[in-house]
Amino acid sequence: MEGSLSSAERVVKTVCQLCVGGCGMNVRLKDGEIVGVEGMKEHPLNEGILCPRGAAAADYNSSPDRLRHPLKRDGEGWKKITWDEALDTIASKLRDIKGEYGARALAVCIGMNMLLGGAATVGLLRRFLDVYGSPNYFSVDSLCFRPRIIANILTFGKFPVAVPQNSNCVILWGHNPDASSPVAARKIRHARENGAKLIVIDPRRTGIAREADIHAQPRPGTDCALALGLLNVIIGEKLYDAEFVSGYTVGFDRLAEHVKPFTPEKASEITWVPAHTIREIARVFATTKPSCIVQGYNALDQTTSGFQTSRAIAILHAITGNLDQPGGVIIASRPHLKSLRLYEHLKEKPLGEDQYPLAYSVFGRMIGEGQGMVLPDVILTGNPYPVKAMIISGSNLVVTWPNSNKIKKALQSLDFLVVMDIFMSETAKLADIVLPAATFLEASDITDMYGFNYALPYVMLRKRTTRFAESLPDGEFWLALAKRMGYGEYFPWENVDEVIEYLLEPSGLTLNLLRDEKPGGLPYGSVRYDQYKESGFRTPSGKAELYSETMKELGYDPLPAYREPLESPISTPELAQDYPLILTSGARSLGNLHSQLRNVQRLRKISPEPTAEISPTTAAEYDIRDGDAIVVETLRGVINTKARVTDDIVANVVNIPHGWADANVNLLTSEAPGDPVSGVPMLKAVLCRVRKS
Ligand code: SF4
Repeated sequence: MEGSLSSAERVVKTVCQLCVGGCGMNVRLKDGEIVGVEGMKEHPLNEGILCPRGAAAADYNSSPDRLRHPLKRDGEGWKKITWDEALDTIASKLRDIKGEYGARALAVCIGMNMLLGGAATVGLLRRFLDVYGSPNYFSVDSLCFRPRIIANILTFGKFPVAVPQNSNCVILWGHNPDASSPVAARKIRHARENGAKLIVIDPRRTGIAREADIHAQPRPGTDCALALGLLNVIIGEKLYDAEFVSGYTVGFDRLAEHVKPFTPEKASEITWVPAHTIREIARVFATTKPSCIVQGYNALDQTTSGFQTSRAIAILHAITGNLDQPGGVIIASRPHLKSLRLYEHLKEKPLGEDQYPLAYSVFGRMIGEGQGMVLPDVILTGNPYPVKAMIISGSNLVVTWPNSNKIKKALQSLDFLVVMDIFMSETAKLADIVLPAATFLEASDITDMYGFNYALPYVMLRKRTTRFAESLPDGEFWLALAKRMGYGEYFPWENVDEVIEYLLEPSGLTLNLLRDEKPGGLPYGSVRYDQYKESGFRTPSGKAELYSETMKELGYDPLPAYREPLESPISTPELAQDYPLILTSGARSLGNLHSQLRNVQRLRKISPEPTAEISPTTAAEYDIRDGDAIVVETLRGVINTKARVTDDIVANVVNIPHGWADANVNLLTSEAPGDPVSGVPMLKAVLCRVRKS
């Protein structure tokens, strides 16, 4: 696993996990300490390049703010305790909770870093909960891109991803890859150099939007209406792939009828995008082959029509003949791993499953978790049953989940809260026990998400390169807690490496191969072009379901239907008189990642402070100048921040980034289920008002 530089220095090849990218990273070590990181040239994803976040990994890892030891609440302060005491306390408390309220009174919630942690890390946690008997596992997925996964599985029986690097027309829809996915941005620009057309749909004029052939700036939350407008033009002007439609789809006639009212003029009225631009986008997308739509990480999901927008986009790919095509959308196989789940122990489904059954399983295939947005109410009311304890790992709910005041109140009312994290987050400050987590540079696991994220059939082992104080990898924590609870018969492994070996068995891969022989990873599996021609679709009809009987049976609209945002000048005109502007949140920055990395000085320079972006016309209406201290208010709360007046944002919209504890936009947002299918909240469009401080 190591290549030598000098007698004292060595290099370990690992995977960056400071975003979903998974770039290959060379970590230089001297005397067990990290002395530098570089991009791994031979890695097919990043080809030697690290973005500023990845390049700052060593600073992040050695931050003086890191948690060093387990801590126990001691009055207003904290008492340092040993891991033994922490594990004994947690095990004892979990036994008490189970005895008094039942196993389901424990909920576990994990954030993005932990979710990216890998099959062993997440698998051990899920196995622990199975044996304990609680179905209540939640993750960042409760407010992330679950709607599009459900939408694609319902339409195609699978979740294909866009491959813009081979495309001749790329639509970036609510996507600013320069900030969220620099590796994707490089691939898109590469396609551009080869002559691909670029269309950006985003209320903000981002850097990449300035380079685009067409930039449309829709009203936040209306993307589904825009997609229906595109379908109207493509079907009305017969720009679709008639052979694919007749041979491989069901419901085309109903779809055609359904989108008739969404003329470009009608869609323009709803979305603010000019009708001629809607026509132009539709024509360019449908007539340039291959073409693909790359959705932003959450921009379309966190709306009232989140699921249906993704359904419409899936249908756009299908009827233009871009499914399973290079440069369109495709899937790549991933290694077949053993499962650590013990379903036979589970007696019930998680909270939220009754309201959002498709968010739990589609066509009998498990997506497999509850909808965490129901948790605050369940904790506060005890309805339908009490949830009394939580273990939260790598998730700063108080800052990153909507309606922060409510989630904070809910967490404060728990009998027992454990938070495992790298830093003392706003959420950790509420805990009874705080545990020091290892970073991605200090924990090993299988990285097999390249197929899922980039249709890149590749696998690599993320490796433990160093240790920090008493921090522990999450996987090791769940293994140790399981043994402390007396679950040893279900957890026969001594360490996470043994679990990785176990998981890899069906794949033909081994720990030794990934760690020692192929430390930089290896191609694994294949990309499946024209898969539907060979094996059809894993849907009830065996075809791409433009009209979904499954949706109809469940009481949802079987065709992609637009819903106005729950709060908008159209759906709630009275509220709009008091709160006339649209607040949108969640745009990414290269200088941080959700609530993380703000304590890394070199990254802080990229994104030094929280601001609220407003257009010059909107600013003038409220007598606000660039740099003014302002107050932003919604029905949920109020924050103080600084105005950034820019014509890069569409008028009447206020854009506030998330993740800042001191100007927390989630004090303003709502956890109300925006999307009725997935329960994902409407973080992209709520009503607000602004004034000078
Ligand atoms: S894009 Fe940056 S943060 Fe993301 S994995 Fe690559 S180097 Fe790390």
